[in-house]
Amino acid sequence: MRLAVFDDWRIGVVSGGGVSDITEALPGWSPRLGPSAVNELIARFDELRPDIQRRVAAQTPRPLGQVRLRAPVPRPTHLFAAPRNFREHQNEMHGPLSGGGGSAADLGFFLKATGAISGPSDAIEVPSGTGRRFDYEGEVAFVIGKEARGVSREHALEYVFGYTIVIDATLRMTETQREERTMRKSFATFAPMGPFVVTADEIPDPSSLRLQLWRNGAMAQDACLKDLIVDIPGLIEQASAILPLQPGDVYATGSPAGVGQIQPGDELIVEVEQIGRMVLPVRARAW
Ligand code: MN
Repeated sequence: MRLAVFDDWRIGVVSGGGVSDITEALPGWSPRLGPSAVNELIARFDELRPDIQRRVAAQTPRPLGQVRLRAPVPRPTHLFAAPRNFREHQNEMHGPLSGGGGSAADLGFFLKATGAISGPSDAIEVPSGTGRRFDYEGEVAFVIGKEARGVSREHALEYVFGYTIVIDATLRMTETQREERTMRKSFATFAPMGPFVVTADEIPDPSSLRLQLWRNGAMAQDACLKDLIVDIPGLIEQASAILPLQPGDVYATGSPAGVGQIQPGDELIVEVEQIGRMVLPVRARAW
């Protein structure tokens, strides 16, 4: 199943080119829940699935072109990300701008502020006049389905609800400007997510997922999750040993090689065949 959030934080199931509104399958739903409602729907998904399927069968889907797609999980409790989790990307990130050595195996996770999340066709807004370099990093992300505390890698995939795509946009450091990673990666719109969450039953082997990213029409990233340094079960084992992962939490698995600069006027296309594609303009921030 492909889950989407659209318009005024409605929750939908996507099939073909249309979306069916299943928001009210969530008992006690009210507009007050806003962008957080989907976290609760994910937590109760197994129980709600029959009613969701009934609602999908009973309506004519609205064409996707008639709705505004939002991030499919707009307000997770945590937005985790793996630093340096592909060997070739680790190799391109040497030198003084990199913040030191290591990989996700010893560095663990970092957090992006959830307020940086934006939708799958929203612009990435780059602050102007900074003289600094901003980069894209295309990443496959997984979404947690139930609370995960101290989970071993053998059981880890049982805690995955589904998969989506995240761009981990980043302000690079300089020799003298060395801000915290969390702040450099948390500018508003620096975590485009989407277009959908595809449930895990449709992707039995996530290591087969292949991510491709084009900048201004030129392919820049092309990699398969089988080349992760720490695979998805390993990331869950590592993070769930630190704190309980919550239903709806999103974890970006790390960028492959081919990271590059973004500037106003650019266009990024990122695609994972089984998940979908995002087309993201880059603009100068207006504020
Ligand atoms: Mn990254």
